[in-house]
Amino acid sequence: MTQLPSYYNIQFCRVSRFYKLTSTSLYIFGNWFPFEYLFPNVNATSGHNILSKKYIYTIQFLLIILLNGIRNFRFIFVIAIALITILANVVITMPHVAYSQSSFSVPNNANINTINNNNKAVILNFDDAYKSQYTNAKPILDKYGYKATFYIICNDVGDNEYLSWGDITALYNDGNDIGSHTMNHKDLSKLSEKMVNFEVGQSKQCFLDHGINTTSFAYPFNGGSDEASVIDVVAKYYDIARTGTEPLMYLHCDGFKEESSQTDCRTYSDDGELNFVNRYSIIGWSHDDARKENSYDDSEMLNKFTEVVNSASMYNTDGTINAIPIVIWHRIDNSGEGDPGAYATTIDLFEKEIKYLHDNGFKVLTMADIGYDTNSNYLYLKR
Ligand SMILES: [Zn+2]
Repeated sequence: MTQLPSYYNIQFCRVSRFYKLTSTSLYIFGNWFPFEYLFPNVNATSGHNILSKKYIYTIQFLLIILLNGIRNFRFIFVIAIALITILANVVITMPHVAYSQSSFSVPNNANINTINNNNKAVILNFDDAYKSQYTNAKPILDKYGYKATFYIICNDVGDNEYLSWGDITALYNDGNDIGSHTMNHKDLSKLSEKMVNFEVGQSKQCFLDHGINTTSFAYPFNGGSDEASVIDVVAKYYDIARTGTEPLMYLHCDGFKEESSQTDCRTYSDDGELNFVNRYSIIGWSHDDARKENSYDDSEMLNKFTEVVNSASMYNTDGTINAIPIVIWHRIDNSGEGDPGAYATTIDLFEKEIKYLHDNGFKVLTMADIGYDTNSNYLYLKR
């Protein structure tokens, strides 16, 4: 091989030594420096950038090994490689820095919910406005920062064992969602058209009189949610309505294969028939109905609960929520201990269920988070 002039050799040695030193330290720093301890939030959101960095450092390290084997190397070439490496590092680090700055302004638990577990989400509902929902359920929800939808029967407000207007206003002002559950909790499928109008329309007005604009409705006993005459009245006053009871709600309304071949959430099909599931018959899962039907004790109920909330994950693999459980509770107290038919969940079981959602990174939403897209005719989650 041709020997290069000594000037080149000296320069090469200097540059090469400098390059080896910085690259090796970058390699060690990039691969072994515990980013996750220093920047926990950054790590949650920008794992990709850290990975890319490590990838570059590895290439650098391989380059050093290559350089060691080459003696007659033009130092200008070494400088070129060094410059390319530095530029590559700058390009990779810039979005990393920008990302980390924006993520620091987002609360920590919001990151956990939206980024790490984007296949797990659940909507919480409480029906019939029992006082225990305020005295026992709310403190547990508050502990984890969760909000829920409370479906209220207007004429029961203030009665013994029911929420007062003060409780309802406090829930509402605290960011919870208030929905209408009619005036008197009658089965709408058994009422005259005039009475359906009263139960549905007057309850909307009842909440407005107390400063609350309800945008969703729940059918008492799920009655009338499969009848066009009732749906048409509900549609006049509310954006969406909830019935029961299935473990999962499919946001494209296409998952109820046994009941319907529909492929979107339009209220009526092209031939004018009411679709089985639509924005006015969104399907929730009655926790207490499941318990009654199967005579579950607390530990069996907790197992069923975890099974239901996890069952949506297989439909949410593309990073968006396509299926979501809408869990409905009634009383949260110990009045029904040992009686699976009591529509009451013990405080201990409820606490375990909500803690499970928290510990497993579920995104917890309300009915107000459900939107309807008139172009696709799909339901979607607003956040
Ligand atoms: Zn009810």
